[in-house]
Amino acid sequence: MLYCSVFGQLLVAPMHIISSAAEMTAFSKAEQRASRRVGFVPTMGALHEGHLSLVRAAHAQCDAVVVSIFVNPTQFGPNEDLAKYPRSFDQDKAMLESAGVGAIFYPSVEEMYPAGATTWVTVEGLSERLDGRSRPGHFRGVTTVVSKLFNIVQPQLAFFGQKDAAQVAVIRRMVRDLNFDVQIVVCPIVRERDGLAMSSRNAYLNAQERMQARVLSRSLERVRRLHEQGENNSEKLIAAGKKVVSEQPAVRLDYFEVVDPDTLEPVCDVKNGTLVAVAAYVGATRLIDNLLIGK
Ligand code: AMP
Repeated sequence: MLYCSVFGQLLVAPMHIISSAAEMTAFSKAEQRASRRVGFVPTMGALHEGHLSLVRAAHAQCDAVVVSIFVNPTQFGPNEDLAKYPRSFDQDKAMLESAGVGAIFYPSVEEMYPAGATTWVTVEGLSERLDGRSRPGHFRGVTTVVSKLFNIVQPQLAFFGQKDAAQVAVIRRMVRDLNFDVQIVVCPIVRERDGLAMSSRNAYLNAQERMQARVLSRSLERVRRLHEQGENNSEKLIAAGKKVVSEQPAVRLDYFEVVDPDTLEPVCDVKNGTLVAVAAYVGATRLIDNLLIGK
């Protein structure tokens, strides 16, 4: 955020709304020429406190914050919710303006995927685990769009939520393997008061489903408590977590896994930093949540 004082009054620099990739790059280059660190928060919009926590973290470490809002079609499967994904640009814009964001990158699908685009970025192996197993092609879409966004925005730091734990592993691997010159910062999960992890998709839930959805965070809490009581065996922890989910028969489990947070491979014995991840359908809505043991 840029402040300047005119006749003793504080003026806040206006937020830029940029839809062209070339203009976005020019904005970032100008910031960097002025020795200002650019922090980047990629989102699909329909913003909530979880997104804003990333913006605040970016402000704490950077001079200018860029937020992208792009509902990326290539990360949605053919039978998924691309068409109905919540879009609330005016509200998002107001939230980001109050948060002091320097620029919103708000490209069209044509700007991001010009006709004839045939290039993909794929992180092999990792992209087929956890959500990647249930959503074939999902992470190929994520890594392709995030690579493009990194090239366009050219940030020094990029901020992601621990909420999407598999995405964090995939992006970290991509950045390492392809030598992207960007530091990845991962921020904790922001939850509703009753424990439900905030998500744009929570808007799909009706009142009954909203109550049922609490079972995801409750199952993770059960695992946390059991581990604190000395249980390290992942099979037993998984069984206990699944049992909590099954107590809510309207919720259909997709996966409940205990894995290494970097490789996403199952582990037998849980230690500090092990990832416990759950995904389930509440009605037609697929929700995810996770915890890092000992964090
Ligand atoms: P999305 O708009 O869902 O693609 O999310 C954009 C970014 O916000 C991703 O890095 C997410 O992991 C992060 N995010 C979404 N929900 C939360 C949450 N409840 N707490 C922290 N970060 C979140």
